[in-house]
Amino acid sequence: MAAKVYAPFQSLSNSRSGRQLALRTVQEGWRVSCCSRSFSSTAKPASSRAWSTPLAKNLGEAITTTGPISIAKYMRECLTSPNGGYYTTQDAEGVDQFGKTGDFVTSPEISQIFGELVGVWFVAEWMSQGKRTEGVDIVELGPGRGTLMDDMLRTISRFTPMASSVESVRLIEASPTLRAAQHKLLCGNTPLEEIEGGGFKSKCKHLPHVSIIWQEDATALPKDDIKTPFIVAHEFFDALPINAFTSVSSKQISSSSTITTSSRTPDPRNTPTKLSHNEWRELLVSPTAPPSLLNPPKSIPPEFEISVAPTATPNSRLLPTLSSRYDALLAMPHSTIEICSEARSTTTTLTQLIGGAPKTNAGAMVRPSSSAFPMTKSTPSGAALIIDYGPANTVPVSTLRGIRAHRTCSPFESPGRVDLSADVDFLALAETALASSETVAVHGPVEQADWLGAMGGKERCDALLAKAGPGPGGEEIKGRIRAGWNRLVNKGPDGMGKVYKVMAIVPEDKGRRPVGFGGDI
Ligand code: SAH
Repeated sequence: MAAKVYAPFQSLSNSRSGRQLALRTVQEGWRVSCCSRSFSSTAKPASSRAWSTPLAKNLGEAITTTGPISIAKYMRECLTSPNGGYYTTQDAEGVDQFGKTGDFVTSPEISQIFGELVGVWFVAEWMSQGKRTEGVDIVELGPGRGTLMDDMLRTISRFTPMASSVESVRLIEASPTLRAAQHKLLCGNTPLEEIEGGGFKSKCKHLPHVSIIWQEDATALPKDDIKTPFIVAHEFFDALPINAFTSVSSKQISSSSTITTSSRTPDPRNTPTKLSHNEWRELLVSPTAPPSLLNPPKSIPPEFEISVAPTATPNSRLLPTLSSRYDALLAMPHSTIEICSEARSTTTTLTQLIGGAPKTNAGAMVRPSSSAFPMTKSTPSGAALIIDYGPANTVPVSTLRGIRAHRTCSPFESPGRVDLSADVDFLALAETALASSETVAVHGPVEQADWLGAMGGKERCDALLAKAGPGPGGEEIKGRIRAGWNRLVNKGPDGMGKVYKVMAIVPEDKGRRPVGFGGDI
């Protein structure tokens, strides 16, 4: 089981604002610390104990009443609950998660080169797909402070024919405070208006003929209105909730164990003859035993922990069957896998916006339930660029972690005050995309350093250095530009060049490769 911790990172000057920023590098995560145990035994004194946050209290009390919850449910509550979620409520209390005084820093915040090259990539795709004169929608999932979109739109606005083909910019954002920050950066003084039926809109300062539209959920993207979507998701998928499962040897499975189903009737498939095989068991979250009142600890220890479900759950029956990649791991007792079903359904949504849904049953397992979704698209068009951290070709194992003040910590520390994230399973996204539409191709994942290099990042860095001017002021600016670029492409443990990967979903076009993935403009 991989152990990971966020290394103390060096402070470097930010090439954009001169602030000291810190780097997201991965090193340590959580461990499954216990095997099956009785869930009810530790949960009793939930209301009398001192909890670290109001959300911890709510979760502790709810679990006491209803039983342990999935890791996905725990992550969902901690990140986006309207009652104490990290992204949805913390910033309303004046906490900024980004930058030196926050919890993490991201590539677009480190150097303008990052967002500019993402913008150039979409211009190149627009050119390769026949330079449409209308019907282009630019979409971002999880735009943070809006910096990436600002750099992208400034770049795209310089390519007038593409800029005039843009009909809308759509931002998917769960946080009201980050939405306000994005609005300020991308729209200036134009007011934010509420849209009937949900969402907000305003006018884009870079493309004055275009509205920027905010929605909270990718499923709210209007499938019928979006013709040619250019979609970017940077550090979005790692924030989606995962379920985790461990392989339990048949020797550990009691012949009397039943399967929890909605009707609570024992599942006839769980018969002694089946017990010769290993079985996936879901990892669940429940409160730890409350600290002793007689000998109280100096700081509050994590209030939640992981346990192995004593029986199969609907998730453990279904999710590991989504890919044959999990089969070999099942054979090894104690293998632990992470599966993000929301990443799969989001990928399906994005892919079908580009390629339409399949005409055959090939994608049935990953097809979204929305009956409003068009089943076909006459000509596939658009592209999605997914940039995040995670392994290129293996299943993520025990990567769930808390991130606070630029270091990893227990994901069970101060629920709602700590960012939670898990490695992105790029192969699962690729599999899902290919099963979701017959007319798309997936390229990558490639390492961020290689992608930025192929996109002309070094040349852009040199151009910025040449513009920086002489004298001590110029030297300081040059130092920041160099430091920012080096951090984006450094493949060592302190850099983002290797751990971050870039993957593209584009219309299949006789094997055409997009720029950055082996192709030319
Ligand atoms: N892409 C930005 C920010 C990354 S942080 C950057 O690179 O700087 C994650 C972003 O996703 C935040 O904007 C957060 O509010 C948003 N987010 C997290 N979970 C979300 C969800 N389930 N739905 C919509 N937005 C979400």
